[in-house]
Amino acid sequence: APALRIRDLRKTYDNGVQALKGVSLDVLPGDFYALLGPNGAGKSTLIGIVSSLVNKTAGEVSLFGVDLHAQRAAAMRLMGLVPQELNFNFFEKPLDILVNYAGFYGIPRGEALVRAEEELKRALLWDKARTMARTLSGGMKRRLMIARAMMTRPRLLILDEPTAGVDIEIRRGMWQTLKEINAAGTTIILTTHYLEEAESLCRNLAIIDHGVIVEQGPMRALLAKL
Ligand code: ADP
Ligand code: ADP
Repeated sequence: APALRIRDLRKTYDNGVQALKGVSLDVLPGDFYALLGPNGAGKSTLIGIVSSLVNKTAGEVSLFGVDLHAQRAAAMRLMGLVPQELNFNFFEKPLDILVNYAGFYGIPRGEALVRAEEELKRALLWDKARTMARTLSGGMKRRLMIARAMMTRPRLLILDEPTAGVDIEIRRGMWQTLKEINAAGTTIILTTHYLEEAESLCRNLAIIDHGVIVEQGPMRALLAKL
């Protein structure tokens, strides 16, 4: 089954805005997939629905064959979400932030410590494991968000505009961490309005505008058309 399968997804907000007007897409397991589009296109709405933060108006969504509507808890266990805003406690240490997060998901402490070491190393943060998070650089804080989302070992990692408002050096560091996570087998979907980001990371993408998918396919095929 696809890592993410969406059929005729529609969202009309209470104020009448039609943010999604019948979106369908498949993301295959192992893919690194970009949802590219300008501000207001509907990217955050789509990610919000897939991560159960926003209610859909109509349509179907399933993760690895598990229907998001019928089996919400089971579907949610398959995914990890990296929100746009930094939302960890700046007065805690990265190791504690990761271990406490795992505890919230019922992962035993011993196992959480093993995973935290692995994730902090992959995000190049192991030497900062016991440093107050407040003192980390902007790029380190962003990578900490990614490391934390990986603590539950999601099969699908979703990032909403992970690099919005960050400079190119920070972006490249995050890209490296994401590439390693994908190479190790995790499917990744990110939204972005930077073509450069989609180009350097993603194998497949969809371009969304005004709530409609306007292009969809392999990155190479799309670049050839531009
Ligand atoms: P960004 O584009 O940086 O993600 P937005 O300014 O689009 O941020 O949205 C910020 C918040 O306001 C989000 O939670 C979004 O759902 C909400 N929002 C955006 N547009 C509207 C709107 N027209 N009416 C009500 N809420 C909105
Ligand atoms: P993107 O993430 O691509 O910038 P969004 O999904 O945030 O797009 O927004 C799509 C459309 O829905 C925009 O017109 C936006 O103003 C509107 N919108 C987003 N969130 C809300 C909300 N909570 N209430 C009303 N309208 C919203």
